[in-house]
Formats: sequence, structure tokens, C-alpha cells
Amino acid sequence: MLTFHIITIFPQSFDSYLNESILARAIKDKKIKIKFYNPKDYVKEGRVDFKPYGGGPGMVMKAEPVIKAIEKAVGKKKLVKILFLSPSGKKFDNQLAKQYSQKFKDIIIVSGNYEGIDSRVKKVFKMQDISIGDYILTGGALPAMVMIDVISRQIKGVLGKEESLEENRISSSEVYTRPEVIKYKKQEYKVPKVLLSGHHKKIDEWRSHRK
Ligand code: SAM
Repeated sequence: MLTFHIITIFPQSFDSYLNESILARAIKDKKIKIKFYNPKDYVKEGRVDFKPYGGGPGMVMKAEPVIKAIEKAVGKKKLVKILFLSPSGKKFDNQLAKQYSQKFKDIIIVSGNYEGIDSRVKKVFKMQDISIGDYILTGGALPAMVMIDVISRQIKGVLGKEESLEENRISSSEVYTRPEVIKYKKQEYKVPKVLLSGHHKKIDEWRSHRK
């Protein structure tokens, strides 16, 4: 079983996504496990965030509570991957997800908020900066969930059928289901004939041209 250890000050923002559909089933079937560690629980006094040195807008999450939360997640584990979410990190993709799913049983995802996390955290632990895309989100919860989702679907049994993994077959973003014809504002919209033909070679050919 692969365990995701999420370092976040907003664990509840993960609830709705992880409690529905395929990921909920994966958790129930013990294919994956998600554990949360809240840096707020490790604040001795004051707040978890403070104004940035050098000035500027926004608050920065303090290093020490995050370090303590990571320490707790690492525990006595030997082989653990620590990922630090950052818009300027290495771009996350299917290949990286597959690699992580095969290599690790424990993945720690450090999710930031506000202006981000005090950079000294990255000097304490060996971690990899990961970005989910060239845009800036308000916090790391969505990027963490994207990563949990993409890594989990690489694990055997999570998608139910092995052949569901799109990247291992000819699939298309253009898909249809019943009925064969739908009517909207007097116009008819039909399913492409080739998909009704039962001719698998032709269907694959059609799909490969509609990525
Ligand atoms: N000030 C930071 C910067 O310019 O790099 C951005 C902070 S962002 C508002 C808050 C947090 O959201 C980040 O610390 C990171 O954890 C997460 N985040 C935002 N966009 C992300 C992205 N594209 N990929 C991964 N994490 C992201």
C-alpha cells in the first residue's frame, strides 16, 4: 500500500475530493492511505505564519512547525520521498507519477499556503520541488490532490481494470455513449459511424487521430 503523508494547514480542504469515486474506493480497498500532519499542531506560541523578511505582501509559513510536521511524517521510515510543492519546481507528469508509484511506499507532500514556506525547510530535508503547471494557485491543496490522483491511478487495481490506464492504450478525448442520436434545437447530433462498426482496427485508427 502506498501512503501519502500530507503536510498542510488546511487538511479539511481535501475531504470532498478524497471521499468520492475512485480515490475513496482506493482508500477503502487499502490500495492507498492518506495521512495529514498540520504544522499548526506544532506551533509553540503565536501563529504558524509571519511577515516575510525583506518586506512584501502576504505571510510566510514558519519553518519550525513545518519541520516538526515533516519529522513526524518521516518517523523511522528509511525510503521516503519528500516533495515540496512550488510553482517553480520540476513539472509533474504521468512518467514521474509512474516512477513514484513504483519506487516508494511513503510519499510526503509538503503543501504551502500564503506566500509559501520559509525556504530553510528545504535545507533541512532533501526534497524535490514539484510544480503541477505554469500558474500559481492560492495554496498547495489542489496540487497535492492532483498528485495523489495521478500517482494513485498508476497503482494496480485502483482503476478497477488494468486497461483503463489511458496512457497504455489508444484512447481519445472524443468519446460517446447512448443514445446514438441526440436532438438539440432541431439539429441532430450522431455518434461517428466508425464507433458503431465493431471494426476494432478502424476504431483504434480513428481514436489515434483524435487525441
Ligand atoms: N510566492 C510563491 C511563488 O511565487 O513561488 C507562490 C505561493 S502560492 C500562492 C502558495 C502555495 O501554493 C505554494 O507555496 C505552493 O505550495 C502551492 N502552489 C501554488 N501554485 C502551485 C503550482 N503551480 N504547483 C505546485 N504548487 C503550487
